[in-house]
Amino acid sequence: MQDIGLQMIGNRMSGEGSKTFRAWAPAQQEWLPQEFREATGGETDAAVLLAAKAFNVYKKTTAAERAVFLRAIAASLEALGDVLLQTASAETGLPLPRLQGERERTCNQLRLFAGVIEEGSWVNARIDRGTPDVRQMQIPLGPVAVFGASNFPLAFSVAGGDTAAALAAGCPVVCKAHPAHPHTSHLAATAILKAAQETHMPEGVFSLLQGATIETGQALARHPQLRAIAFTGSFAGGKALFETASSRPVPIPVYAEMGSVNPVFVLPGVLQENGEALAAQYLQSLTQGVGQFCTNPGVLITAGNADSFKAALQRGTDTLSPGCMLTPGILSAYQKGLLHLHTLGARALAKAPEAPGKAAAVLLQADLQQVMDNPGMLHEVFGPAGLIVSTGNVEEMYAFAEQLEGQLTATIHGTPADLEANADLIDILREKAGRLLVNGFPTGVAVNHAMVHGGPWPATTPAAGTSVGTGAIYRFTRPVCFQDFPEGLLPEQLRNENPHNIWRLANGQWTHDALT
Ligand code: NAP
Repeated sequence: MQDIGLQMIGNRMSGEGSKTFRAWAPAQQEWLPQEFREATGGETDAAVLLAAKAFNVYKKTTAAERAVFLRAIAASLEALGDVLLQTASAETGLPLPRLQGERERTCNQLRLFAGVIEEGSWVNARIDRGTPDVRQMQIPLGPVAVFGASNFPLAFSVAGGDTAAALAAGCPVVCKAHPAHPHTSHLAATAILKAAQETHMPEGVFSLLQGATIETGQALARHPQLRAIAFTGSFAGGKALFETASSRPVPIPVYAEMGSVNPVFVLPGVLQENGEALAAQYLQSLTQGVGQFCTNPGVLITAGNADSFKAALQRGTDTLSPGCMLTPGILSAYQKGLLHLHTLGARALAKAPEAPGKAAAVLLQADLQQVMDNPGMLHEVFGPAGLIVSTGNVEEMYAFAEQLEGQLTATIHGTPADLEANADLIDILREKAGRLLVNGFPTGVAVNHAMVHGGPWPATTPAAGTSVGTGAIYRFTRPVCFQDFPEGLLPEQLRNENPHNIWRLANGQWTHDALT
């Protein structure tokens, strides 16, 4: 029995299950030879119980110790070298330069979280020294489950943003690997476990479960010892996990990032002045990574005469090449999604040259009334599909914006005069999306302190969080306050002398001074 295909329950390899699966090689259009065992219910239970045990120790680690752990994970990932990139490329069909960038992003976000917890102010310490004396800070939730995403095998997967945020907060992680890249997941897990051993973290701070059916995920969502779930993937998957977790005897939060159509509004002035260039930029964003981004701009809305813009889109689409998608299931969902749009009345505008087993970019068009009558036209079709909605004027564009459901992003293109005249559109869109952009494109999500990657339902389950950027840490914490505690029993962050020199809201004033 080879170790690669097994569950990693803390430092123990386990292969109890008899069900196996293999990964698809999109570029070669064949199944890869390595077999992976699906986790059993017993293995899932063992991983969560070990995580719960580890939490008792891990929650007491200092921020400095966890920062060392996070940086060691980054170093271990880098030490895996080309093997990690080549394995990820074989399992996803993504090109090596893209994966090189993704590894850099993955390591950077681990190091970014290390810096945040080391600085320490993230705990949001609040102190009111009245009667009573009340002192609040964020504490970790407990063991959490992270579901790796298919489309980012490194940055949104085993050692990705969710895992980094949870480990930074002080939560052990049980990761459900995405079955599209099990070997990549195994390698990333070895890097985390190696780092955990080197930095003396408790066994069970991280475990990896493999599986290609929903049973493992459902068992995790039901497990009484689990305290939260982070998920990136389909609406159906996210909603199913949300429902399971909400109907448990003790419900837990599910932070599901389920994607959206990310509307792009092109105002009349810029459409006339710069339509051709915009068409080229739109196609570039729409087809990047074969459209397999949750921020893909799947719907574009024009106001006014869009004839020359559409002609430029048609010319541009003719020059595009088809690309391989991550899995046969995702390709077939793309084809079904296009068919569904046609059924709802969308008309062909342009189609890139096709090739067997690959996805070609497709542009469809519809007018405002059709889209208003068929809200299903605005459901995500994961892949390089764009729906161009023509409206006669900005008032119609506003009407379209008003009836949008929750989105990860919304983008406005306009000249300075367009933007000044249409501030109301921004007002409407800020109620609809987690990130608003002006004169840009939503693909490419910067990892920093201010980023929001989330949005109102159905883009994500709770709109209050972000799954990218350092704000992601708060999904894995909760506030607790200590009332009338003697100084010696308080957590260090809340003691008068402020030994970590962190920013605190003391009697309503932000300060990092000690309290006298
Ligand atoms: P998915 O089907 O949602 O699967 C993601 C993960 O969730 C997998 O580990 C899957 O386990 C698990 N899962 C799915 N349904 C579940 C359920 N009912 N209960 C428990 N666990 C469940 O996503 P995918 O495989 O990546 O791609 C399918 C579709 O997802 C795409 O066509 C696209 O629409 C969407 N997608 C969206 C994003 C985004 O960023 N928003 C990213 C990627 C994909 P198993 O596979 O083992 O069953």
